[in-house]
Amino acid sequence: MNYGKNEVEKTLRKTNSRSQKITSHLVLLLTKIILILVLFAAVLGISFGYGIFKGVIDAAPEIDVASIEPSGYATMVYDSKGNLTETLVKSGANRLEASYEELPQCLIDAFVAIEDSRFWSHKGVDVRSMVRAAVGIITGDSSAGGGSTLTQQLIKNNIFEGGNEDTFGEKLERKIQEQYLAIQLEKIMDKKIILKNYLNTINLGNNTLGVKAAALRYFDKDVSDLTLSEVTVIAGITQNPSRFNPLSENGRKRNEEKRRVILQYMYEQGKITKEEQEEALADDVYSRIKNVDIVTKETQTPYSYFTDELIDQVLKALQDKKGYTETQAYNLLFSGGLEIHTTQDPDIQSVVDEEISRPENYDVVYYSIDYRLSIQHADQTTTNYSDETLKTYFRKELGETNFDGLFSSKEKADEAIAKYKAAVTKDGDTVLGESVHYVLQPQASFVLIDQSSGYVKALSGGRGQKEVSRSLNRATNTLRQPGSTFKVITSFAPAIDTCGATLGSVYYDGPYTMGTKTFRNWYSSKGYMGYSTIRDGIVYSMNIVAVRCMIETVTPQLGVEYARNLGITSLTDTDYNASTALGGITKGVSNLELTNAFAAIANGGIYTKPVFFTQILDHNGKVLLENAPETKRVLKDSTAFLLTDAMSQSMESSRMFASSGVSLNSTSAVANIPGMSNAGKSGTTTNNNDIWFVGFTPYYTAGIWSGCDDNQKISAIGSSTSYHKKIWKAIMTKIHEGLADTGFPVPSSVTTAQICRKSGKLAIPGVCENDPRGNAVYTEYFAKGTVPTEVCDHHVQLTVCSESGGLATEYCPEKNTRTFMVIPDGESGGTDDSKYRSPGTCTIHSSTSVVLPSEEDTENLGSTKDETVPETVPETTKAAPKSPLDQVYIPVGPGYN
Ligand SMILES: [Zn+2]
Ligand SMILES: [Zn+2]
Repeated sequence: MNYGKNEVEKTLRKTNSRSQKITSHLVLLLTKIILILVLFAAVLGISFGYGIFKGVIDAAPEIDVASIEPSGYATMVYDSKGNLTETLVKSGANRLEASYEELPQCLIDAFVAIEDSRFWSHKGVDVRSMVRAAVGIITGDSSAGGGSTLTQQLIKNNIFEGGNEDTFGEKLERKIQEQYLAIQLEKIMDKKIILKNYLNTINLGNNTLGVKAAALRYFDKDVSDLTLSEVTVIAGITQNPSRFNPLSENGRKRNEEKRRVILQYMYEQGKITKEEQEEALADDVYSRIKNVDIVTKETQTPYSYFTDELIDQVLKALQDKKGYTETQAYNLLFSGGLEIHTTQDPDIQSVVDEEISRPENYDVVYYSIDYRLSIQHADQTTTNYSDETLKTYFRKELGETNFDGLFSSKEKADEAIAKYKAAVTKDGDTVLGESVHYVLQPQASFVLIDQSSGYVKALSGGRGQKEVSRSLNRATNTLRQPGSTFKVITSFAPAIDTCGATLGSVYYDGPYTMGTKTFRNWYSSKGYMGYSTIRDGIVYSMNIVAVRCMIETVTPQLGVEYARNLGITSLTDTDYNASTALGGITKGVSNLELTNAFAAIANGGIYTKPVFFTQILDHNGKVLLENAPETKRVLKDSTAFLLTDAMSQSMESSRMFASSGVSLNSTSAVANIPGMSNAGKSGTTTNNNDIWFVGFTPYYTAGIWSGCDDNQKISAIGSSTSYHKKIWKAIMTKIHEGLADTGFPVPSSVTTAQICRKSGKLAIPGVCENDPRGNAVYTEYFAKGTVPTEVCDHHVQLTVCSESGGLATEYCPEKNTRTFMVIPDGESGGTDDSKYRSPGTCTIHSSTSVVLPSEEDTENLGSTKDETVPETVPETTKAAPKSPLDQVYIPVGPGYN
């Protein structure tokens, strides 16, 4: 009888059409087959004791029973000044030993079925699995398995700090040694003990090692009480604990698939009956999984947010750079006795912690709750409740539609919990577990990076008491809408960097609709500003300027590409639209990625992947991993400087060039650090759900986010929307004490030129400086080669009738010249520029109504003539016979619908 996995998989696998590819890849395929055959011939040679690789085997580590038991060395974490900041150990509650007798037969059968179906009969290695794995590699069928027996996996996880070889040769050597040792181990250790050790040491996700810990974590049961249905969930996690994590939505779907496969294997291998298989499949097992860790109590002080992220970074580096499996990486980190040198600066971190926690830095105090309740009913079924179901109860059942889950005190929260608990509990119910955490709101996160090295010097993932390790980290794992900070990244940076725009390029700030979406400015009560430069767009955070720049110059595709180059990984294909210019994106961004994107601007356009640690030493003090910064140029140094200069202006008090009475001010002056050059960009989302400030000095780049975890509006709970800028300023002011202000040096690729701010082009002498609002000429920085050569076409000097103010006709007795604005074709809305557009022709003086001036008037006319009235009508007047108001226009360009 053939129990072969491939038979089963044939039935289960979706029949993808591969046939076309097979022909074209025939040559490649043959090469692969030959290579694999050579490899396996070698491996088989060893297995059968031919002695060809005697040297390799002689070099294999010693094996004894003790060496496959888990080691227990704590990992030490040091900050950048060499202080021990954290000790990483497997928490006792998270690694529990089960005896073989405690393991239910169905659990043993499930693991054997999916991982190593011939475990009980092979002698440590399984030739048939190896061949199947080889076929899997050739055909690209990843479900064929890795060909390793449970014995090999045990050795790999516990003897070789496995898979960390750099070359193919080393990998092959390790593989051969692993097979040799597996055969040796089987000679000296009972299969039951091998299996017990394996099941007690595997990583089953969510900080559980071993099946006993997993049984408690996921089902709140002793391992011996697990049902068939439950063991298949746990066995389904093994291959990849993140991917098959039953607590996440996608992970659960994959786990369900895997569980189906396991049950099918078990049935085909004769371990369970058809009825048992169907009963298990019909069981709603995922609803019983504990969404809260009600069993494991944290015994030690929770790790800091920095350490939480460090753990993720190290686990990833060990897998990506050293080739460890997730289980190996986890074991090594928490019991391998490593020494990790981090980039965390203790002095900066303590300033960050102090200011982020300081209650006076926030305008209002609220609490949300993180609530979990598990109740077992009289019929033995279990129901899980949470703060989400509590919210639904208050809104739907009690009709409190405005219930937002925020409480003004912990007592108020407790009252709500008591009310809810009373409503859901019935006679005969038993409370299995209940937990409540009070979370201060609004929350905040902070990231500080040394842009020159990419070193993350300090990080805060939230305010208030941190109660558990590896909890919600708002600095790294939460995605929030970036608001206006994104204007620089997706619109202005690409415009200047590759689209030929300059800081002086103008876009018309007027009413703007694209399709069904009408874009508004944050300052809509002040009206539209008309022609505005990219510099204005940054300094005054102008929405329509940013959107027009993206649509008319950049394209959303290029904007998204720039953001991705700057390290933003959370953008999706649904973000190729104008809203992305304003940070209205599908998923949001993490503070770490957003701050690091600005660090690239601060670093002259060179992006560095955030660095959390510099070096990891193994238990013997040997270097295991050197973490050299990974850098790449993402912006020209000229672009980086130009953006920096404009963002630097936004931190000074600055008023937009506009009519008197129109007061549009720079957005970031509140954050300005005294005595230190600084540049930055604020961001506030439309409904005030998220407020950001990201900025930098010549030394450090820092980003702060604040908002409510559940997206309640900051302004709606009575808070201002600028307190975060003060926190940023407080932190940055303290950490820059004693540092010299070196300024932002102008790179040699940048030059200056005088231009007109209403056109971004060379000023017309005597015209642009006579804008009715003042002198429109200013000195701007340009990347060399981009200084404009054309002259201003948005200002025009016209001769008007002194009496009516209309365009002068030949009949007007008294005339003078004035500077007017040329409004773009198609713009009919009122802006600050449209106030100064060319007037209509004088209606007082025409051929039919010639009024000759009196003698006195003639004298007056004569006396002023030399000063204001040119001898001839200027060229521009002749070219503009009608007011632009009367012109017929045809809308053009993608922005005009
Ligand atoms: Zn001009
Ligand atoms: Zn007139």
